[in-house]
This record gives sequence, structure tokens and C-alpha cells, in this order.
Amino acid sequence: MKVCKFGGTSMATAESILKIKNILNSDKTRKLVVVSAPGKRFKTDNKITDLLYAAYKEKLTYGVPGAALEEVCDRFEILARDLNLDIDIRSYIEEIETGLIESNNSDYIASRGEYLSARIMSKVLNFTFIDAGDIIKFRYDGSFDSELTRDLVSELKDIKGGAIIPGFYGRMPDKTIKTFSRGGSDVTGAIIAAGVNATLYENWTDVNGFMACDPNIVTNPKWIEVLSYQELRELSYMGANVLHPDSIFPIYDIGIPIIIKNTFNPTALGTQILKNVDGFDRPVITGIAGKKSNTVITLTKSMMNSELGFGRKVLSVLERNGVSFEHIPTGIDAMSIVVSNQLSESLKQKIHDDIKGAVNPDTFDISTTLSLIAIVGHGMANRKGTAAKICTALYNADINIRMIDQGSSEMNVIVGVEDADYSKSINALYDAFFK
Ligand code: ASP
Repeated sequence: MKVCKFGGTSMATAESILKIKNILNSDKTRKLVVVSAPGKRFKTDNKITDLLYAAYKEKLTYGVPGAALEEVCDRFEILARDLNLDIDIRSYIEEIETGLIESNNSDYIASRGEYLSARIMSKVLNFTFIDAGDIIKFRYDGSFDSELTRDLVSELKDIKGGAIIPGFYGRMPDKTIKTFSRGGSDVTGAIIAAGVNATLYENWTDVNGFMACDPNIVTNPKWIEVLSYQELRELSYMGANVLHPDSIFPIYDIGIPIIIKNTFNPTALGTQILKNVDGFDRPVITGIAGKKSNTVITLTKSMMNSELGFGRKVLSVLERNGVSFEHIPTGIDAMSIVVSNQLSESLKQKIHDDIKGAVNPDTFDISTTLSLIAIVGHGMANRKGTAAKICTALYNADINIRMIDQGSSEMNVIVGVEDADYSKSINALYDAFFK
């Protein structure tokens, strides 16, 4: 049995939905189907999920939702009309509006795009609709309940015909809806694949698979044939947004293979993501990904090296303020902390004041223009020259490296450069490793 997940662009128009139908009809082992909410139909279009979050804001501001929920209704009515479906979208929207007014966080409303997508798809395919809330379970504390979920999902193994499941959400014991983080339908697909012990998890999107670099930065980058689970996590976490990095956890132990496929070009081979990539002929570096505008907090203090507990005190300030860090490059009298999200002005001030109180540094600086670039590949382990090649490529391109960090697993090197050098750096690294 295969589990298929179709992303937002695959669900955006009647035309793309009919492509899904053909894909499923061409292989009867594609029996369990997870769907996202409709995405953008064209560049300036709205994603349904974004409209639903906007509807929540409208409710907070005016007490009732307004134009955003109307747009959601229109979008689904257009789909139903173009697909000739007998489905009363308006009455679903009325039900959703009541649920929204009663709910006290945005998860319920955010999940309704996937819910309606699945309602539509179950009609198109004549597959059984299974509400994700009935099989994807969270505990009282909001953590994912993998044991209960596995038991419930495993019952789908014996399902007659096909089933369609909305992605992105599940339910808490008190029946309230809880969503995964954005892009979380990929995680739902992985959970379903693990629960039924699928032979393959097909993740259908709008690209031919992973590319060695972001095609918006490097022209025609090489396609990646095979990625390992860890490489996928490193690249996705650093910005390659083809698949949610958490999609690996549910299937890790069983080692279910994933394949990224293109709904709009189904014969393209796609990228395989495997637990074990031994035996494949692969380059030293598999891919390069990056994120701009990270925050760096830099502290200096004479004799920092001999001040016991300095690092712990600084990090506990971050912990108390709910800020997680990525890297901590240090010197004898200096310490930098790289944080991937942007901090608000008030939070920066609070962190400054708390750090001053905790360790009284000589200088304190926050910069927000550090780009992090990850160069990822198992091939670099136990092999000389990768770091040298990275530094040489950046030196030849006249780029200053502000930070460099090699993960202890020896499968990624992360360099920090100024935002202004970001694209130039990625191009220089791509040329060095792939040309
Ligand atoms: N619709 C949700 C989002 O836009 C989840 C998903 O598509 O995976 O983040």
C-alpha cells in the first residue's frame, strides 16, 4: 500500500485536481491520500490557509469573520462548480463560522482548508472521507500522541477502496483541534505511512524533486536523485522548502522510503529520500541551502574564558525569554549566539537587560544581517578538502566568512556571511561543488 500526499498547488484548481485523479487511477495501490488546503493559483493569489488565519484575525478584531472567510467560500465554490460536484460549500462555511466564533485559538480555523479539500476530494475520487481529528491524536499538554495515533491509523490497513484524509491537524482529548506547524500536511502523510507500514510515501508537489540549490538563486541547478533522511532534515531546516523537516520522525524507525513527485509532470523521476543511501553513487556534497537575516548576539568580556558558568547564564536568559539558538561560536573573550528568528525590538531590549544583569559583559551587540548557508552531504565525512574548498570558493568570490561551523556528524558545514553576499556565496559554492 502506498500513501500519497498532495500539496497546495496540486489542490488549487479543478484542472490540477483532475491530474491527481489520473495519478491515483494509474496505480491502484495508491489507496490512502492526504491533502493540503488549496494553495496559490498564480503568483499574487492567496493561499487558503493564509486566508483562514486572516479570518481568525478578523474575528479577534470585529468579533465575527468577514471578507477573508468569504474568499475561502468563493474559492471552494469555484472548485465545486468546475468539478461538477454536488456539495453544499455554503453550509460547510456556516458550520465553520460557528466553530470559529466558539474557538479560542487559530488552530481550528486554520485546519478547515484541509478539511474542505478532503471533502471535495472524497467526492471527486469516491474515496471514504476520514477526519484527521479521529485518527491523529494529541495529548492534553499539546504533544503528539504517537502510540494512540499509530493504533488508530493502523486500522486503515484493511480499508476497502481508498480513503482521503485532511493533512495538517489532529485532535486533543477534549476534542479541540490542534495543527502541526506550517507545511504540516507532509507530517500527516508520514504519520499515515508509518501507521499502515506503507511500502512508499509519495509526496506530490509542483517541482521535479529537490535541486542541489534554490533555483531562484542558481540557474538550472542539478537535480538530486537520492537524499538521506538526515540530509533532508538539514536542507529543509535551512530553507529548502520542498518537504517539512519533521516528516522524517514518524517513519524513521521503519525506514519507509519517501519520493518527491511532480503532479504537473508525473513522469519525472523525482527525488528519493531514504534511510540508508549506501550503495548509491553520490557526489561528496548533496545540496546547499540557506536562510537570510539571522540574528547574532555578540558579547565580549575580558577573562570570559575563566568565568565559570558564563555560557550557562547567557543561555538561560535566552531560555527564559523563549528564544532558541542555532550556533554559539566563541573566542577567549567573546561569545556570539546565532538565533534564526527575527526578534522584536522589545525582546531585544529585554535580552540586553537580562544579559547585562546576569553576566555584565563589556560590550553587547545585536546584528540582524547574518545569512547562514549549509553545505550538506554524507560524502564529506572522513574525507579531506571540503572545508578548504568552501573557504577557497568564498575567498575567490571576494566574500568574507563571518562564521564557520562543522556539525559533529561531519555531514554539514555551515558558513555565515553578510546578507548582501548571500546569493553570490551560494553561486560560488554551487560552482565549486557541482560544476
Ligand atoms: N495548509 C497548511 C499550510 O499552508 C499545511 C500544509 O499545506 O501542509 O501551512
